[in-house]
Order: sequence, then C-alpha cells, then structure tokens
Amino acid sequence: MTCKLCLQNKKLIKKSHLFPKFMYNGIRDEKNRMSTISSDNLNDIGYVQSGAYDEYILCNNCDNNILSNYERYAANHFYKLNYRENNENFCQIDKDNIQFIFCKNLDYSKFKIFLLSLLWRVSISSHYLFKDFKLPLDDEEKIRKAILKGDPLEELEFSCSLSTHQNDEKVLTDFILIKPTTQKKVIFYINDFIYTFYLDSNEVGNYEQLQSIKRSNEMLILKLPHGFWEKIRGTIVETVVAQGMRNSKKS
Ligand SMILES: [Zn+2]
Repeated sequence: MTCKLCLQNKKLIKKSHLFPKFMYNGIRDEKNRMSTISSDNLNDIGYVQSGAYDEYILCNNCDNNILSNYERYAANHFYKLNYRENNENFCQIDKDNIQFIFCKNLDYSKFKIFLLSLLWRVSISSHYLFKDFKLPLDDEEKIRKAILKGDPLEELEFSCSLSTHQNDEKVLTDFILIKPTTQKKVIFYINDFIYTFYLDSNEVGNYEQLQSIKRSNEMLILKLPHGFWEKIRGTIVETVVAQGMRNSKKS
C-alpha cells in the first residue's frame, strides 16, 4: 500500500491520529470524547474519541519520525509553555488597544511545517470529521513535498494566523470545527486557538501578514476582544442546537 506522504509502497501503520493529542488537551468530556462540528453550514454535530485516527494512510517513518518531529517541536516550544505570561519566549503586548501574544523564539521552519502538516492532514484524511475540506490537488501536492523535504515555503504561502481569547477570560473551548469559508481560506477551531489558513498568498491582508510566522522566528497571536470568543462559540452552538431540534422534529 502507498503511504500518502512519501508515496512509497510500504507497510502502513494501522492508526494515524487526526491531530496530535496535546492540541486538544482539555476538550475531552468525561467519556473521553470531543464535540465535533464538521460542516460548512454547521449542521453536523458529532462526537469523536480523543484518540480518533485514520487507518492505513502513513508508513511508520512518515508518521512516527517525520510528522512526529514537527509535532514534538510545536508541543515543547509552544503548546506546553506559558505563552500567556511574559518570559524569554513570549510577551503580552497591547498595540492601539488590541492585545497580542508576541512569540519571539519560534523556529520558522519547524513551526511553519507543523502548521502546514495540520492543513495537509485534514485535506488527505478520509475521516468524516474532515469531509468538507479538501485542498486543490496542486496545493496538496506542493505541501506534501514541502513536509517531506523540510521546506517551510515562503512566509505568505499557506500562511496561518492564530487567534485566541483574552488571558482573563474563562471560556469554553470544547469543540473542533473545520470551516471552509471561501475557496481561499479555511478556519480550524481547535481547543484554545482559531487557525486561519490562507490558501492564496494574494488574499493575505496586511493585518494577517503581521500575524503569520516570520523567518525572523516571530509570530503574533491576536487576542480577540473580550466576549468575542463566547460569541463565536455561542453562534456555533446555537446553530447546532437549532439543527438538532429540527432533526428531532423530523423523527
Ligand atoms: Zn511514508
């Protein structure tokens, strides 16, 4: 069978996890599930085990060596660190009344390829959670080669802006949603962060350019104004509840 990353005929491993586990720490319910909403019109809520995986898509080397290396970097240099404090790696800044987390020491190559791997992973997955999003085949192939070669591509190629809630907000981060908005943009809501990927470098506005990770190893994460996070979550949950009620009336 052919590995989707290296394209070699190799023995494929049974389970490849959809996302690295550290990305959804804190969004498991008591049954170890995550709420998932997968459709662009938000009408398809479901649950997925936190260990959800695709079967037989990657060889051992691609999953446990190539992709895992980038995931490990992201975990150890970002997700597991105190990025909401001021320290040698992060700085909480306020620019014209807009708040950001300034990441000062994120390796451009490693973190960018980690982000690219999330985008590629969702595109190649056959899991129902990701059924609404597929990259154009040329883009998928470009990213596949980039991951395999360790090439982070140019700053604006498939650039990604991260947003999060304010530090002092106690918010719920209990769902995963992959939302293709237009042909040129896809938004991933995963736990604490909203990841906006720009699929066309010409469409990246000045503001988003500021946010995406730079060759200087810097990245700016926007903190949404107070209340915005709950508003976004509320809109999604309300839509889902409304849809659920319509479905239950049908049955
Ligand atoms: Zn492989």
